[in-house]
Amino acid sequence: MAFGDVELLIRKLPDGCWVPAKNKVVAVGERRVSLRRYAWALKHGSAPRGFDVRATCGRKMCVRPSHCELHPSEKATELALGGEALDRSRGEVGAVVVGEELVPARTYRAIREHPAASLAALRTKFGLSSSTIYKIRAGLAEVAA
Ligand SMILES: [Zn+2]
Repeated sequence: MAFGDVELLIRKLPDGCWVPAKNKVVAVGERRVSLRRYAWALKHGSAPRGFDVRATCGRKMCVRPSHCELHPSEKATELALGGEALDRSRGEVGAVVVGEELVPARTYRAIREHPAASLAALRTKFGLSSSTIYKIRAGLAEVAA
């Protein structure tokens, strides 16, 4: 399926958002994936395991890839917070790679959830470089190997 085919599954709103025309879930072979994740995969490649694709434009239903970002999934972050052993076979992650630094999922989420926090405060609290914090804020991360 080409990216253009997503257009058959969505409705384009005048403000630029794309919402599901009908179903929010797409069948891919035997798997069922959300239309948002599917659209993301056609545009950027599959979202890594342990990450959700979330709309950041303010419209929860939006599936347009350019209106979405990757976020560590709640489940992965809960595992990291609870300090439980990670079950890599199920694809959960406790850390994310940001540029060349390995950042705990808990730290990643804390930075994402406090966009108004000062850079200096975050550098001091988490011991990360400014460039890493910028990258986290921009949603640039991948799952740690
Ligand atoms: Zn949108």
